[in-house]
Amino acid sequence: MLLKDLFERLEELYPEMVRVRRELHMNPELSFQEKHTPEFIAAYQRELGLEVQTGVGGNGVVAKIEGGKPGKTIAFRADFDALPINEENDVPYRSKVPGVMHACGHDAHTAIVLGLSKALMDVKDQLEGNVVFIHQHAEELNPGGAKAMIEDGCLEGVDCIYALHMENYFPIGKIIYSNDYILAASDEFEIEVIGRGGHGAFPHDTVDPIVITSQLVCNLQQIVSRRVDPMHSAVLSVGSFHAGKAHNVIPDKAVLKGTIRTFDSEVRDLMERELERITSHTCQAAGAKYEFHYERGYPATRNHLEETQLLVESAKEVVPVEDIVSIPPNMGGEDFSYFLEKVPGSYFFIGSANEEKGFVYPYHHPKFDIDEQALLIGAKTYAAVAMRYLMKNPR
Ligand code: MN
Repeated sequence: MLLKDLFERLEELYPEMVRVRRELHMNPELSFQEKHTPEFIAAYQRELGLEVQTGVGGNGVVAKIEGGKPGKTIAFRADFDALPINEENDVPYRSKVPGVMHACGHDAHTAIVLGLSKALMDVKDQLEGNVVFIHQHAEELNPGGAKAMIEDGCLEGVDCIYALHMENYFPIGKIIYSNDYILAASDEFEIEVIGRGGHGAFPHDTVDPIVITSQLVCNLQQIVSRRVDPMHSAVLSVGSFHAGKAHNVIPDKAVLKGTIRTFDSEVRDLMERELERITSHTCQAAGAKYEFHYERGYPATRNHLEETQLLVESAKEVVPVEDIVSIPPNMGGEDFSYFLEKVPGSYFFIGSANEEKGFVYPYHHPKFDIDEQALLIGAKTYAAVAMRYLMKNPR
């Protein structure tokens, strides 16, 4: 009965979730610069009667529902930062901030959690355990908000955690999961190859960084093809190669920048190690020097099997079983990974595309927008997960 009541309540709350999402959409704030958004969230949660902590790990907000009966504690994480993108959608709720846009659906994630919070407060006394809402700032920008919020104690007493994300690569009505890795670790490197410049007509008097760095780019291709176990995955892409200005001048140096994506931490370590080894030996062979910078981004997002199975069972309450889709991991990255390193849980996607309505652009696109029915599907899925996790008789 409880779950059915909650679903009905969420349906009633749907227009409010839409209103909240649009309010946030019109007022986006960049990572680490969030001010009004956390204030809005904290005020909303306080108004509902939750215990609210602000300034958690920076701009994070944590709100807690203490259930009427003792039990476990489940957390739902919603990120709330926006991106430095100028919105190109011509909609009444278009971003009012030039150059800043909720182009990754974090406005929707927040609206879902606030709607869920309101619905759960109605049945608070019946809850066998507690629900924590982790409103996270700065997901889009390394080092991210998750790590700092965890260090500030947001996971204390939390037994499991879930997060969802809008997904325009799937149509509305689909719920998408993975039992294991779902997103990659994302690292960056920058290599400066330092040679000795000179006249283009006298190459023998120079140490030509363009020739050496070109070799280096080719040599780096051997890491994935010849060092990484073929049963594991890794990507190494050079995205930038800068050197020189003139036809007849050999420059002093060349700079390479690139990205590395991996899943297993051993593969990640190997990529970093091999990258420097090949850089060092390629430069040494040609008599050049180098500077090597490697910056680790978020680790890979790896779901826990038991909590993912609970999600799949819960999703069956919301959509037909054939609309629950298992996917292999993709090479995107997300700092929800830090939460999953601390407590069991699962990260999943809610299909939000709708071709007929024109919601077809992927996240981080200036025309990104979602079918707002995804708010209701997301909130219902969370409600079903919470009931299944906390209640002895969830139905
Ligand atoms: Mn995102």
